[in-house]
This record gives sequence, structure tokens and C-alpha cells, in this order.
Amino acid sequence: MDLFEHEARDLFARHGVPVPPGEVTSTAAGAHAAAVDIGGPVVVKAQVKVGGRGKAGGVKLARTPTEARAAAEAILGMDIKGHTVHKVLVTAASTIADEYYFSFLLDRANRTWLAMASAEGGMDIEEVAATRPDALVRRPVVDMDLGQAADIALAAGLPAAAADVIVKLWDVLVAEDCTLVEVNPLVRTESGEIIALDGKVTLDESASFRHAQRPFGTEVSDPLERAAHAKGLNYVKLSGDVGVIGNGAGLVMSTLDVVAQAGGAGPANFLDIGGGASAQVMADGLEIILGDADVRSVFVNVFGGITACDAVADGILQALGMLGSRATKPLVVRLDGNNVKRGREILVEAGHPLVTMVETMDDAARTAARLAAQGA
Ligand code: ADP
Ligand code: MG
Repeated sequence: MDLFEHEARDLFARHGVPVPPGEVTSTAAGAHAAAVDIGGPVVVKAQVKVGGRGKAGGVKLARTPTEARAAAEAILGMDIKGHTVHKVLVTAASTIADEYYFSFLLDRANRTWLAMASAEGGMDIEEVAATRPDALVRRPVVDMDLGQAADIALAAGLPAAAADVIVKLWDVLVAEDCTLVEVNPLVRTESGEIIALDGKVTLDESASFRHAQRPFGTEVSDPLERAAHAKGLNYVKLSGDVGVIGNGAGLVMSTLDVVAQAGGAGPANFLDIGGGASAQVMADGLEIILGDADVRSVFVNVFGGITACDAVADGILQALGMLGSRATKPLVVRLDGNNVKRGREILVEAGHPLVTMVETMDDAARTAARLAAQGA
């Protein structure tokens, strides 16, 4: 799970990483009050889980509380790369002498942690990595002490004083079970302090049981995403009109491709019901997919494995029974794999008015797109 900047900042502060004083608010009046509290110039920053907020106009300097209010008015409600801004972070403006890049991340390919540091911070680090790879120092690490941190700082051209902050960022990574801790920019102020001005943290959700009291992740804005999460299902909202249910990430991804290729508005969302496509899981999945008002048809694409196609077919029919009048949109079902013949027979025999059975993925995608267009 990715955190908002202000949440990352809270974790940093908890582990002694220096951050500027700041307050989070969802109103322009709140931004005014925060600027009064902080005193002096502030920076008003959009809280959305995407990078490049600065370039998108989501980070604004405000010299006075009145300017802070105006900045918040401009930023709240703004759309940044498809994310609506609901909150801003108002922080004390730092006088920046130098901007650096620093991160710890999980290097899955090499089964290790990686420290990455660069004296060319602030900007797009992907661009630095692509155009001037020498400017980005990468070090596999298994542990971190002041000596190693000082080594990395020296190699990357960061000031020696950054070593202490690097050790504290490692503490954040380990103690909070993160797979990414990124600071861009880490700055040296004109008075020589090292401060984290931006933070991106990804938490390892497999370890969330160790942090039950942590207040994050409650801000999932989409109620359907929240409902799916509560049921242990992976649901993602997209912009089209065909709901997609599949089992397994690979199959779901290819289903999205064929639906996009079929023309029309494309996928409205997708839901991965994973390995066990039981009636209850299918009912939970359908309920969530049909709860999306943009959905005009649903494409159920299941490859029978351990759960054979006949069980999936029974599951779909039972799910429709459980949903009753809440199931209103046409369903296009494509089954393949284990015991597919019996699975298809079950659906044909049932002759449910909402269910169309199609044998291939491409045909099913086209049918779903057509039904969605008719329902529009
Ligand atoms: P993003 O990476 O999403 O663009 P940042 O938080 O990195 O957002 O902000 C972009 C730039 O704005 C930073 O590189 C820095 O130059 C400036 N900035 C951000 N926060 C502050 C601050 N508190 N004081 C001064 N400048 C800031
Ligand atoms: Mg940044």
C-alpha cells in the first residue's frame, strides 16, 4: 500500500527523520489557519498518491496566510493524473541550498535491499537514471550503520551530514515494514540542515498485522474498493463500462486487453477472485462489480483449475440467486479449463436470462462491449 506524503511524513517524524513543521487540511480556511500556526512562508501541497505534483501545479509557495488560502483553493479539487485532490499539506517553506535523491527499496530480482542516492534530486529520478546513470549510486544493502551510510553519501555526492538521516530512513524501512522509502528531495538548507521535503512510502501489506494500530489505509476513497478489500478481493476502478471478473492476475490482465481491443468504452473496473471461485466469492465479486454505476455489462472470464468449471458455473448461478433483483446487468461468461464441458452444460441448461455463454475470450469481449453499448 502506498502512503500519502503526509502519512510518510508522520512515519519519518516518528523515527527522527527531520521534516518541516506542517498540518494537513481539507479546506482553504484550514490552510489559512495552518499558515498562521506555522508562521512565515509555507508550501501548500496536494495530497495525492502520484509523483510530479510540483510540475502539475499541485505544490505552491505562499508567503502569507492569505496566499496559503488562495493556494489551497486552487489545489483542492484539482485533478492530478486522474487523482482528485481532497487534502493539502501545509508545510514551512525551506530555503533550499541543494536538492538530493535518496531511497531504500526492495530489489526483488536480486533478492536484496537497494540504497539509491543522487546529488541530482528534486527532479524526475527516472530521467536521471536513464540519461546520466553515473549520477545515481545504487548499493545493495542488508543492514545500515553510520559508516555505510557515510560511504553511500560520499559516493553519491551528498553532504556527510546526510549519513545520520540515511540511518534513520533505514529505521523507518525496517521498523515499519516498508518495501519502499523514498525521499525526493532530501535537501540541505542554507543554514546547513538536512531535511526530507517529500516522502514516498510503500508498506508491505503482508506485515500489516504487526501494525494493527496504524491509522493508514482508511482513506481508500472509493467505497467499492473498500468493500472489496474488506472481503479480501482485489478490485480496481477504471473508466469504461464493462465490468470484468476473472481468476488470477494474468488472466484478468489479458481480459482487460481484449475488452479494450473490442472497442467501445473499455473496462469499467476489474476484480480478481483468485483461485477459489466459490459461489460466495462469485456473489461477493458480482455484488461489487454491479455496485459500480458505470457498469453496463459484466464479463466473467474464468479458467477452471483446482476449482473446476462445473463448480464455477454452479457458483455463478447461485450468486445470481443470492443477488436476486440486485443483479440487473447482462453477464457474458467464458469458461475454460478443468471440466469445461460440464460447466458450459450447466449454464446452458439453466438458461438464465442475464447470462450469455461465449466460448472464446475475443468473442466474449466483443459480446460484452456490444451489450454495454446497448445498455448505455
Ligand atoms: P513532487 O515530487 O510530487 O513534485 P515535492 O514534494 O517533491 O512534490 O515538491 C516539488 C518541489 O517543490 C521540490 O522539489 C521542492 O523544490 C519544492 N518544495 C516542496 N516542499 C517544499 C518545502 N517545504 N519548502 C520549499 N520547497 C519545497
Ligand atoms: Mg518529490
